[in-house]
Amino acid sequence: YDSYRRFIQMYGDVVLDVEKDKFEHLLDQKKQEKGVEKDTDLTGDDLKDLVGKFKAVVKEATGADFPEDPKEQLWGAVGAVFKSWMNDRAITYRKLNKIPAEWGTAVNVQAMVFGNMGDSSATGVAFTRDPSTGEKRFFGEYLVNAQGEDVVAGIRTPHPISNEQKERAGSDLESMEQIMPEVYNQLVEIYQKLENHYRDMQDIEFTVQEGKLYMLQTRTGKRTGFAAVRIAAEMEEEGLIDEKEALNRIEPEQLLQLLADLFETEEKKKAIESGRFLARGLNAGPGAAAGKIAFSAEKAETMANAGEKVVLVRIETSPEDIAGMVAAEGILTARGGMTSHAAVVARGMGKPCVAGCGDLKINYKEKTLAVNGKVLKEGDLISIDGTTGEVIEGDLPTVPSEINQVLVSGTIKKEDSRICQIFSEIMEWANKYKKLSVRTNSDTPEDSAIARSFGAEGIGLCRTEHMFFEGERIDAVREMILAKDLSGRQKALDKILPMQRDDFKGIFKAMDGLPVTIRFLDPPLHEFLPHTAEDIKDLARKIGVSFDELQEKVDSLHESNPMLGHRGCRLGIVYPEISEMQTRAVIEAACEMTREGVEVLPEIMIPLVGHVNELKLQKEIVVKVADRIIAEQKVNLKYLVGTMIELPRAALTADKIAQEAQFFSFGTNDLTQTTFGLSRDDAGKFLPYYIENKILEADPFQTLDRSGVGELVKIAVEKGKCTRPDIKLGICGEHGGDAASVEFCHIVGLNYVSCSPRRVPIAILAAARANLAGKLN
Ligand code: PEP
Ligand code: MG
Repeated sequence: YDSYRRFIQMYGDVVLDVEKDKFEHLLDQKKQEKGVEKDTDLTGDDLKDLVGKFKAVVKEATGADFPEDPKEQLWGAVGAVFKSWMNDRAITYRKLNKIPAEWGTAVNVQAMVFGNMGDSSATGVAFTRDPSTGEKRFFGEYLVNAQGEDVVAGIRTPHPISNEQKERAGSDLESMEQIMPEVYNQLVEIYQKLENHYRDMQDIEFTVQEGKLYMLQTRTGKRTGFAAVRIAAEMEEEGLIDEKEALNRIEPEQLLQLLADLFETEEKKKAIESGRFLARGLNAGPGAAAGKIAFSAEKAETMANAGEKVVLVRIETSPEDIAGMVAAEGILTARGGMTSHAAVVARGMGKPCVAGCGDLKINYKEKTLAVNGKVLKEGDLISIDGTTGEVIEGDLPTVPSEINQVLVSGTIKKEDSRICQIFSEIMEWANKYKKLSVRTNSDTPEDSAIARSFGAEGIGLCRTEHMFFEGERIDAVREMILAKDLSGRQKALDKILPMQRDDFKGIFKAMDGLPVTIRFLDPPLHEFLPHTAEDIKDLARKIGVSFDELQEKVDSLHESNPMLGHRGCRLGIVYPEISEMQTRAVIEAACEMTREGVEVLPEIMIPLVGHVNELKLQKEIVVKVADRIIAEQKVNLKYLVGTMIELPRAALTADKIAQEAQFFSFGTNDLTQTTFGLSRDDAGKFLPYYIENKILEADPFQTLDRSGVGELVKIAVEKGKCTRPDIKLGICGEHGGDAASVEFCHIVGLNYVSCSPRRVPIAILAAARANLAGKLN
């Protein structure tokens, strides 16, 4: 009768669409009536009575008797399985795991075994290794006298499977090893056999019917990034798989989990369950951050200086916010996509960032944030999970990544960190099997050093304008942009030169023996001009001009489309003195470092070139100034001059551009923007709709659009090689750290990819997998 009532309950719910609460309610009522707690304490007569009541529920809900014919029951069940393919849960799951809807599903009809036939029966689920940590330990849960649903339903607390698990959890519940030692030993033998057969961690389900063990199901188990890495490395060690297969077992993106600060899983789950979930945005910078809300960079700094943890919440960010971003634990924005300023800078800094969170209604004046029926004020606590895009009300505890502590801060010794040893081993294999070089996008000596400790083989993009984000430095750039004439500009450039030279020295040193690509200034004006009257007043005072004069200049520089405006090489073309200064800074720093015994390999890169003449003009300046300095200083220094390919016209005329360029670096952020005609700064408003509704398969700013942008890349590669067969080819757009895009770069034959420091390991693994996939095909 226990089986019969379960059958009616489940069949009623799954096949006949009867609300399952109705059955649960009756069951609870019965237990109350009888004064018992567990289902198993009900007698046969109680259950018989329940069966009658359940049938009445079905009749009332469906208007028909519960089907008694086994064939009819079976067909009903089969139909329900097929129908389940289109339920919301299945649809969401497919979306998450990129499973095409047209695959459809299958139905397996199996004889039933019964785990609820008394105390010699049981049922459970288990993993052949720990799915959270990957540790090699049998890990599972079971219940005596129960069916599968009971283990997961949470009515009875499931018991630990082994004595080891019981001890570790400090549980006083009896383990299966204790009470059914023979069956347990048999189960151990079988799980080992299954794992050896499939050569991967298995997720198994089993039932014991009156002392006899039946295996119901086995499948490859889902696992965290930590577990994926550990299982792959240890299975190689055990000889189950080889290095190549080990690399194929780890999704590159999973490495992010290993490197990011994390929220404690249990605490987060509890918070979401208790209604503290606020919204979901783009998971723009992985990691966890919790702190008090600050609505301005200034406030963020003040609060951080007072020792508080802060999350900077902005509608969008600009370079003025940098200090606030540095001070903050994490950044949350309502606007902007994966390559918006906030996202790019946050990833570069390794800060957790949730961007483009359109549900947030931010009111700077009132200093409020309205979302999901709640209003939060400045100073209220908020938590953002940059790995998942979740925004949660209140504080959540975090833990820093162990690998960072070993490789970057040195606070943990490598011999004490198993996960770091494993991580290093995986990286070693990946380096062995990859063809692409992996460089980093870095603008500071600190980031360069971090990237190098993660395995970067040089710098693929040093954005020189980013070197001015900090402190008072941005004022020098503003002064340069806003100068009324050559002498005013020269004055500003004289301030900038020593700062740049020092920065370059630090970077060259950190990258001793490795190539460093330095891109000349590319400041989209809207990101660099002061916005508010306050800012203008402040800057006017600092650079010694009147407010009105400066205001007028700012107005005159206003652009309708700054992304297509006076930026990139257009700046150095109209004001050659800027490029002269930058050449001096690079070459003087390189000469100085060379004399100190550092091996310097500078590569000067001209941005946003659309016509070969632009590059020609800029290159003339670079060569003239560089060769003069090198001759004067009598240093043996070689340098390259190349360009970014980030405009369709540049790609289409790459043969001509290659006459001047010694290397190409694909700036796929701008190339995506200009190929699609899709503003990097505004796409966040509508692009999510495109993805949601499958108008586009993926965000093209995240994953390179192979058939459009990719075609341009291919054309440029071919044309470039035609003119200059040994041309060096790389990518430095955000795509350089995206696994699918890295694969594309491998296929089209680039020499290197470049990405933010913390994505270097991902790119290394993706490059190896791309090469291995090529060999398998
Ligand atoms: C690009 O456009 O891809 C690029 C790397 O340059 P930025 O993002 O600085 O415009
Ligand atoms: Mg660009």
